[in-house]
Amino acid sequence: MVTRKPASGKSAAAAKCPTCKGSGETSVRVVVGSRRKHTTDDHQSGLCLTCMGSGEAMN
Ligand SMILES: [Zn+2]
Repeated sequence: MVTRKPASGKSAAAAKCPTCKGSGETSVRVVVGSRRKHTTDDHQSGLCLTCMGSGEAMN
């Protein structure tokens, strides 16, 4: 994992989501087995669950 911090970042409000890197999309693996608390349809690639597709990091 490479942790990149903005060189001169004063705007902490618009931090990009580290998971999808601001794209709002990510490839999610289909959870099979252990803890599947809520499985809806087939979600293989779609919204980033970390930022809920907004692309912004939630702090
Ligand atoms: Zn995200």
